[in-house]
Amino acid sequence: MAAGEKDVVAFGARRAHPALAPALDRAAYVGGLDGVSTLRGAEAIGEEPIGTMPHALMIVFGDQVEAWRAYDEVMPHGVPRVALVDTYFDEKVEAVRAAEAIGERLKAVRLDTPGSRRGSFPEIIREVRWELDLRGFNDVGIFVSGGLDEEAVRRLGDAGADGFGVGTYVSCAPAVDFALDIVEVEGRLAAKRGKLSGRKQVWRCHRCMVDVVHPYERAPPKCPTCNGEMKAALQPLINNGEIVGDLKPPREIREFALDQIRKIERL
Ligand SMILES: [Zn+2]
Repeated sequence: MAAGEKDVVAFGARRAHPALAPALDRAAYVGGLDGVSTLRGAEAIGEEPIGTMPHALMIVFGDQVEAWRAYDEVMPHGVPRVALVDTYFDEKVEAVRAAEAIGERLKAVRLDTPGSRRGSFPEIIREVRWELDLRGFNDVGIFVSGGLDEEAVRRLGDAGADGFGVGTYVSCAPAVDFALDIVEVEGRLAAKRGKLSGRKQVWRCHRCMVDVVHPYERAPPKCPTCNGEMKAALQPLINNGEIVGDLKPPREIREFALDQIRKIERL
């Protein structure tokens, strides 16, 4: 959680059906999120799971400081110490107490404040940042979670949050409507009404992020924007039930996705 670099972790699959969770976590990860919090999801992407303590820990201990200290004592060395600081008291009071209890091993505090108690969440984040900095805990990051959508991530990031746990808005994301249609049968043009007949290729200029759809057999077009080379975006992955394409590891797919997002942001 370095300054200027925001982490977004998928908490969504924790709410999903167990059979769906690994696929959901994988999709969230290749879509650009930084990590996943379920064991099976992490297994599916070949990475270590990322998570923080639950409120249950503080409730079972009945005392935040004892709970944070116990976590620090028993968790393996490489696990970042992220203390949940909104269980019973005010966030800034608990954040300072956590920093004083764990010291320089504390990587971040997590605010998971329920909506009913938030008031202005950006203001709470600014306040926590101020109180931590004033006491010399400048390296302690602020991780936020609870009902965050993409707009909240932007707003809270501007207020000083360094990391985000996103749950429901990943596991119950709005549907992207799409359909698969037969458009050609062994060379014979065939499409139902409302659909375009014939196999097609999507040509993409990776510099301008411009797509052009042409009949499959037609020669590659030039980019209508920069007149540069366009590449075929559709590549066969399965043929007659056999995997024929190059199935890249999730980390590599994620890099590709992020690279494209960066290009779109620059346009
Ligand atoms: Zn171009």
